[in-house]
Amino acid sequence: MSLSKPPYFARMSLSKPPYFARMSLSKPCIPKARFLACISHPSHSFQRRTFSITSTCPTTTSPPSTHSPTAPRTILSGIQPTGVPHLGNYLGALANWVKLQHELLADVTIYYSIVDLHALTMPQDPAELRRAKLDMAISLLACGVDPKRSVLFEQSRVPQHAELAWVLNCITPVGWLSRMTQWKSKLSQNKPGTPSTHAQSIQDSDLTSGLRMGLFAYPILQAADILIYKATHVPIGEDQTQHLELAREIAKMFNKMYSKNVFPLPEGIIPSSTKRIMSLRHPTTKMSKSDPSDATRINLTDPPTLIASKFSQAMTDSERGITYDPVGRPGVSNLVTIYAAMRGIDVDAVLRELGDVQSNRVFKERLTEVVAEGLAPIRTESERLRADEGYVEEVLRDGAERARESAETCLREVYEVVGLR
Ligand code: ATP
Ligand code: MG
Repeated sequence: MSLSKPPYFARMSLSKPPYFARMSLSKPCIPKARFLACISHPSHSFQRRTFSITSTCPTTTSPPSTHSPTAPRTILSGIQPTGVPHLGNYLGALANWVKLQHELLADVTIYYSIVDLHALTMPQDPAELRRAKLDMAISLLACGVDPKRSVLFEQSRVPQHAELAWVLNCITPVGWLSRMTQWKSKLSQNKPGTPSTHAQSIQDSDLTSGLRMGLFAYPILQAADILIYKATHVPIGEDQTQHLELAREIAKMFNKMYSKNVFPLPEGIIPSSTKRIMSLRHPTTKMSKSDPSDATRINLTDPPTLIASKFSQAMTDSERGITYDPVGRPGVSNLVTIYAAMRGIDVDAVLRELGDVQSNRVFKERLTEVVAEGLAPIRTESERLRADEGYVEEVLRDGAERARESAETCLREVYEVVGLR
């Protein structure tokens, strides 16, 4: 399996005001898959294409045709209830979730899931997890997820995810999972200096002694999350590209094994300019909900004073002036990316706008203003919803019911195809 950067992922530019976008289909692009020959099936009707979303002004907005074979037919994405969503989640994924609701034609079904089964791959306090699930639903609604347009639900309320995952477990080679990077980065979060190559990691008993089956195999459950709805497109941040590639390979193998095109090959929709927001304290690792230090991230519900304090402590450097150089100046460049995305302008425009700023302190103050102002409506709406949890629970109940209906249809087909029915 080629785990190199898949060229068919969608690129989304958030460089202009993010609420209007034009989707265009560009030419087919076939990635190198080492064993493509042995797993591709001649009757595949799904084509690999780049699905790109380009920001443009509202007057030229043209939604994609749903008649095209590569236009989205079903969208699925998920977020773990492992904490309050942060700026990385928002700029890398959630802003797209909201945007797609406005852009896609009404016959495209959209599923957004709070993937609570995935949260169990790391230790959780039961009471906190229960609370975090509801808090996540509140945050998603506050960001603009519209339950009338999208099916919003908790993963564990739809048991078909886990049932399909078992079927997929039975066909997925262990070697594919050992190449995934996330279980290593999650395990090594508190163990700096652990080896980084796949071969070293799987043989490193220090690292793998703490490895539980769920953390190792959760990319298969993630594949099931997508495939159970026959999703064609998956809005994600760049950190998830490897898992999406795995989901495609599993879908391909299943179709080949049973000589039936049960699953479409899902494509990613990734924002091109804010693929990955980095940690404020360690700007070479991504911002994460599960990072033990809250100072590494801006949570969507952080009040302005806390945002100011986190940015003021963000790691930068001693150079004067603001430039964009992710390798040489990772800290400052991460802040420039955040500023650009929150202002809805590109990096060059940010550098022009901040041309007069010489000190990081002043830059951080300007950034605080922009971010605090941008997040204010989400914070206000979260507070309003928190006072109306009955409504939020009802949204989740209704969403699970709708999701179960569709998931059951697919599972019945899978059980027939594999011979369980
Ligand atoms: P955890 O640390 O528990 O894994 P997380 O912060 O990585 O949490 P997820 O729930 O795993 O968040 O991911 C939700 C979505 O947010 C995914 O689409 C993921 O690609 C995206 N995402 C997560 N972190 C970032 C980031 N730093 N930059 C851009 N996108 C991100
Ligand atoms: Mg994650």
